[in-house]
Amino acid sequence: MACFLRSHQFYLINDSQRKIVHNDSHSPARQGSNLSHELSHALLHHCPTPALDDSGHRLWNQTVEDEASWLGGALLISEEAALHIVRNGWFLVQAARYYQVSEEMMRFRLNVTGAQKRIWWGFRAKKSR
Ligand SMILES: [Zn+2]
Repeated sequence: MACFLRSHQFYLINDSQRKIVHNDSHSPARQGSNLSHELSHALLHHCPTPALDDSGHRLWNQTVEDEASWLGGALLISEEAALHIVRNGWFLVQAARYYQVSEEMMRFRLNVTGAQKRIWWGFRAKKSR
């Protein structure tokens, strides 16, 4: 059995099963983020590694973690959802509550999808025709 470890949650693998163990004392938004992150490891077929080396030091693969974080956010707030939020003028807090994510996650997804710029430039292009 091997696992990924990220702030008190685990993604466990053995020969026939994958399990996610998470901390249910976190906020619902945080739990959703944690679960989507761990699910992303599975969807991306990341090779499991031990969480700790033989000396008890934490092992960390930044590339793998970045990939899981990126996909985890996209699972929570798709590009289409980000464009919909901006197109309809939702406030950040309103959008975060609707999608049950943190405001930080919502801001991140709106930024990385370029939703605000894309809607703005689309609006300007239509206006100048
Ligand atoms: Zn991870």
